[in-house]
Parts: sequence; C-alpha cells; structure tokens
Amino acid sequence: DHLVNQIAAGEVVERPASALKELLENSLDAGAGAVSVDLAEGGCKLIRVSDDGGGIAREELALALSRHATSKIASLEDLHRVSTLGFRGEGLASIASVSQLLLSSRLAGGDQAWRVAADNGQIHEAEPAALAAGTTIEVRDLYFNVPARRKFLKTASTEYAHCEDVFKRIALSRPDLALMMTHNGKVQWRLKMESPAERMRAVLGNEFADSMLAIDEAAGPLRLRGFAGSPTISRSGRDAQFVFVNGRFVRDKVVLHAVREAYRDVLHLDRQPLYVLFIELDPEGVDVNVHPTKTEVRFRESQAIHRFLFHSLNKALASTRA
Ligand code: ADP
Ligand code: MG
Repeated sequence: DHLVNQIAAGEVVERPASALKELLENSLDAGAGAVSVDLAEGGCKLIRVSDDGGGIAREELALALSRHATSKIASLEDLHRVSTLGFRGEGLASIASVSQLLLSSRLAGGDQAWRVAADNGQIHEAEPAALAAGTTIEVRDLYFNVPARRKFLKTASTEYAHCEDVFKRIALSRPDLALMMTHNGKVQWRLKMESPAERMRAVLGNEFADSMLAIDEAAGPLRLRGFAGSPTISRSGRDAQFVFVNGRFVRDKVVLHAVREAYRDVLHLDRQPLYVLFIELDPEGVDVNVHPTKTEVRFRESQAIHRFLFHSLNKALASTRA
C-alpha cells in the first residue's frame, strides 16, 4: 500500500505547490475562516498549514492519512454532485507517503488536541498535542524517500513561485478568508477578510483594480461573476487569467476561447487581458473528476457554456464603451 501511495503521490503531488494546494483545499472544506501557511525553501523543506476549521476527531486522525479515506462523499452517486474541493481521499495519504508528516487537530468543541505522525508511510499512534483550535499539518522534506522525484524539484525560488500561484488562486476565490503566508520566516502575504474588489486589489495590484470591470450576469442556472481587466494594462506574474468553476480553479479551453472571442468582438483586441471569473453552475453540469489534480473540468454542455460566457462578457464590455 505504501508503494501504491507513492505512485499516486507522483500524480497528486508533483511538487511542493501541489501539496500546498491539497492542504489549503482541505482547510477550506473544513470551513476555516483563517488559514496561515509557513514555507521553508520553496516548500521543499517545510509546508505548514494551520486553520481554524472544524478539526478532526482523535479516532479519525490515522484514517485521514489513509488512502481513499474521505469524509466528503459517501457513495459513487455523490461523485456527480461534489460541492467540496476534495473528494478523492488520496491527498493526505499521497503526501504522507513521500514526506515526514505531522497532523495535529482539535475537533470543534473538543477538550483536547491530538496529533499523529507519519513517516515513510508509517502512521504512528495518536498523542496529545497543544493546539487551541482547528488543524495544523506539517509536511517536511518532500520526496526525501524518493530520490528520483526529488531530482525533479527546481530551485527553492521556482518552487516558491509555484506555491505563491496556488496561494493567490485561493486568495482570489475566497476574499472572506483571512490568509497569511511566510517564506523562510519572512511574511510574504497578509490578507484580512475583505470585499471581493478589495481582495482583487490586494492580490493583483492597483493597476488592475483601478481599471477592472465588475461583472455579474446570470441565465437560468448559469452565473458569471468576476472582474475583467482592460487589455491595455500590463500583466503581472505568470498567471493572468483566473477562472474558477464552482469555486475551483480551472484551466479550460472552452472558457478561454469564449473570453478571447468576447474581447476581440468588442474591443477588436487579440491580446489576452487579465481577468478573474467565477462561473457557477449546477454541479451535475460539470465533471471535476477528470484528473487527480483537478484543474481540468469537462462541461456537459460546453456549447451552452461558451455561448453564455461570450454573451455575458460581450454585454459587460460593450456597456463600458457606451
Ligand atoms: P479528501 O480531501 O479528498 O477528502 P484528503 O486526503 O485530502 O482527502 O483528506 C482526508 C480527510 O481528512 C478529509 O476527508 C477530511 O475528513 C480530513 N481532513 C483533512 N484535512 C483537514 C482539515 N484541515 N480539517 C479538517 N479535516 C481535514
Ligand atoms: Mg483533500
């Protein structure tokens, strides 16, 4: 089983940033209101995520680190209407199989915190821990036991940049969360709970925030919210197109194409602008179970989605030129 977990880890945990994503998604799924992240050496040496969410009961701690143990879906049926970010139950097991992991948690209302350690896939007995609330997971020395994969890790600064991408995506999608992140002991991000527009400014900068156009369109069960930037502003960072489907960051050709066409149609511009879009639809209308890392989705009715996005954006963009 250890080997199976390590093989799965190769898919789920490509690099420190993918481990960070799994941990942050778990915190969100646990209903956290504040999450803090500490990284050392781009996450290669340490990834620590602390949240104030609902916590895990003592007797569930070891289970949380086991493969296909998820508390989030009860049956195959549920797969068609996933509303949590995680559901495969392989995130923690995979990470634990390729790192030294410490999981501490205090169940909401519980009188004591507990922790379990896992190293090299071996899960130890639960011990009492000191933790005021929520859950803290520490992942040390990712891939210490898989030299072949460790070789593929890039420099600490490159790995940190990937972690920051993951952090920004969460930050953009959840302005109601207080978030903070340190790297090698230095505070890099400190975000208080704020409005969506304020969060855009905090994460993407003044140039974007000063020119962005707020969008909120709906048609039947489809809704598009977000902020579209002017195509003339400079792009900051590597990621300039942020698309979230039911709260989940995705890269999707249908969406990218619809947006590009809308900009081209209204502004006659071929350049990709910076934008942050939130698409909401019935969970049954989108398959998020395409790949373990889940940035791919499959829309059941992709043409209808394309039409809706194109028309909504077209309308919003055209209104600014009137
Ligand atoms: P999944 O998220 O797909 O359910 P994971 O391996 O990521 O699988 O997590 C396994 C289980 O551990 C979750 O279903 C959840 O019950 C529990 N868990 C993990 N992280 C947290 C957390 N930060 N707070 C509360 N529960 C957690
Ligand atoms: Mg998970």
